[in-house]
Amino acid sequence: MSILKTLQEPNPILRETAEPVKPENGSFLHLKNLCTDMRQTMKVLNGIGIAASQVGESKRIFLVDKQSFLDIDLPSDIFINPKLIKKSFKRVVGEEGCLSVRGIFGTVKRALAVTVEAYDLNNKKFRLSGKGLLARVLQHETDHLEGKLFIDRADPDSLHVYIKEENDE
Ligand SMILES: [Zn+2]
Repeated sequence: MSILKTLQEPNPILRETAEPVKPENGSFLHLKNLCTDMRQTMKVLNGIGIAASQVGESKRIFLVDKQSFLDIDLPSDIFINPKLIKKSFKRVVGEEGCLSVRGIFGTVKRALAVTVEAYDLNNKKFRLSGKGLLARVLQHETDHLEGKLFIDRADPDSLHVYIKEENDE
């Protein structure tokens, strides 16, 4: 297991449309190790989601932090080739940050609820519906796969710098 380097805006890899994962090419072991390292990296950086492009792999994969959603029975914390198949009309404003835009936060209007279809590490298809914070994370991470960052969608007036102080929690 290792902690991966997270790319920072304006690294061009963050702006690429990520490639679909094809189980027949590329090694399963590489995929498994990548996901393990991404999970570890997300935990160390206190992220609640991480996309493969953020660690330099332009692949359609993201992970969601299970610990942040203990009340939800996530079928998998690994989302391979995910697709947003449903989005509520109702949208809500909420604050976001990103491991690739370190120190910047801002508010983004997103669908209140979404349904995602994806594959787990065993190539088993699953469906997950979420609302609130989970829906927000699923949309934020799906955006990464299209080369979009939350700062593109954020209300420009809401963007602000927050530097964590030593004596903060
Ligand atoms: Zn992000």
